[in-house]
Amino acid sequence: MSQASPRVLALCGGVGGAKLVLGLSHIVAGEDLMVVVNTGDDFDHLGLRVCPDIDTVSYTLAGVVNPETGWGRAGETGEFMAALASLGGEDWFFLGDRDLALHVERTRRLRDGETLSDITADFACKLGVTVNIVPMSDDPVATKVATKEGELAFQHYFVRERCQPAVTGFRFQGIDRASPHSRIVEALQNPALEAVVICPSNPFVSIDPILALPGLREALTRCTAPVVAISPIVGGAAVKGPTAKMMAELNVAVTPAAVVTHYAGLLEGFVLDERDAACKRTIERLVPHVSIGDTLMVNLDRKIALAEQVLALAGRCVAA
Ligand code: GDP
Repeated sequence: MSQASPRVLALCGGVGGAKLVLGLSHIVAGEDLMVVVNTGDDFDHLGLRVCPDIDTVSYTLAGVVNPETGWGRAGETGEFMAALASLGGEDWFFLGDRDLALHVERTRRLRDGETLSDITADFACKLGVTVNIVPMSDDPVATKVATKEGELAFQHYFVRERCQPAVTGFRFQGIDRASPHSRIVEALQNPALEAVVICPSNPFVSIDPILALPGLREALTRCTAPVVAISPIVGGAAVKGPTAKMMAELNVAVTPAAVVTHYAGLLEGFVLDERDAACKRTIERLVPHVSIGDTLMVNLDRKIALAEQVLALAGRCVAA
């Protein structure tokens, strides 16, 4: 894997972000693309270190992701989970048999003292991925979801409770002691960087943990490349997952404008879905450059087309 400085840096969560990153990987050479992945979802489960967003991005870029779910591996079997359930073990978080091998090996290597970033890079290499997949930090950060029923660990909220409890806020345990990975800071300081892309990931639990890392927000505002985001809200709803539900529960309007406001002070460009064209003027008052298009990444062509649109927007920001 190349350690050269990237031209494009993407901030990404899991399924939604990985779709755009796959599109970007078709138009930007692997060594020129760095994907900074949220690790707030990571947790210890069944004695294993599980990193859902990193694995979703890695499997997606490797072309081995389950196309139905957008996470896990294609053609996966569940013998381990079935056997575990028959023993009365915890089966609320599905780990496919082949996926399990990765968690076992990652856990072993972490115990042997390797960093998450080195292990992630090595797994990516073994999966045939040339894109630089960089965990936001090598230090542990754990997202906690405050709900009307009390605070829940992220995966307990997301998977075990199926996002049912109403959220009242979030906390990123360990964030004060965590450092952004040095390669991220170096990339943001490099004048050769052409674009920072905030993927259409969940702003609260996928992107905010990255932005909350000490010094990261400042590094983003100082960086010479434009920061552009893509709306995860399309037609007044989330494409998938709890983003819209969270916004409503937090008394935030479920609109692309609210997403822009959430990223206040960071954005030079924003990609708005054509279904929300009516709010273009509102958005233009909030962010200098706005681009409208079909942001629903229903197939590879749409992923690549959106990636092209995003980089064209970044180019417009630079030219202005
Ligand atoms: P997670 O960690 O697996 O929940 O994935 P992310 O946080 O990366 O992405 C979740 C967000 O992606 C949700 O808010 C979705 O609305 C958004 N999303 C998913 N697919 C698409 C898509 O095709 N287009 C757009 N614009 N947003 C999408």
